Amino acid sequence: MQRRSVLTSALGALGSLLAAGCAPVPSARGSTATPPAPTPLRPRSEVAVTGGVHGDEPSGALVLPELEALGFATFGPCNPWGFAHHKRGLADGRDLNRSFARDDVPEVAAVQRFLEARRPALLLDLHEDRDAAGGYLIQHGPDDDLGRRVIRALGDEFAIDPEPSFLVVTGEDGVLRPSAAVLGVVELSRFYGLAFHAWLALGITTLVVECPRGWPLADRLRWHRRVVETAHALLGPPRAEALGARPPR
Ligand SMILES: [Zn+2]
Repeated sequence: MQRRSVLTSALGALGSLLAAGCAPVPSARGSTATPPAPTPLRPRSEVAVTGGVHGDEPSGALVLPELEALGFATFGPCNPWGFAHHKRGLADGRDLNRSFARDDVPEVAAVQRFLEARRPALLLDLHEDRDAAGGYLIQHGPDDDLGRRVIRALGDEFAIDPEPSFLVVTGEDGVLRPSAAVLGVVELSRFYGLAFHAWLALGITTLVVECPRGWPLADRLRWHRRVVETAHALLGPPRAEALGARPPR
């Protein structure tokens, strides 16, 4: 994701707000507690993964065949020209990930057809960030805590960005979760990306998955695969079963 440093006092408290009310979840590693009863998982095909929206962030597209072989629903590279030419934007220079409110961009229409056909329970959109200090997630879906649980589960495996930021929003501990108010402003701007579109159009939680571009390619691929696998494992049962047994927040 392209980032710029914009400080805003109005949103400065967002990170601490996001941190409130979340009970700690013990790591699976080293825990001696009796494991809970297995939770029925959704089929992997109900988890959609997109990559290659930004053509100069190759790991997100390169990992898709591996994820597809595991049973996940994949689509990409979403920006095939950019991927082939190692360019962030489309052939005309526009940023695909700021174009999802438009109806005249073929690459947008292709992703929308994929999502409409699949109607996934979760979407993960894979990216790289040249400025990140570690892996992090941007979660669209302010009522969900999935992003925080994924990061906690992976904290022993990967370096996590302690203070991720995107545009005017900052997060902490590897999770950036815009509030409903911020998401409303983004919608009004008509200048939004794939993950926001999927959240808005399908009403599902979506995660933008970011990792440092400076990581070796093998590590970037492994990060993406582990985030997808972990998010699927933590997604829980289909909604009808989840209603009576929602995870603690
Ligand atoms: Zn990106």
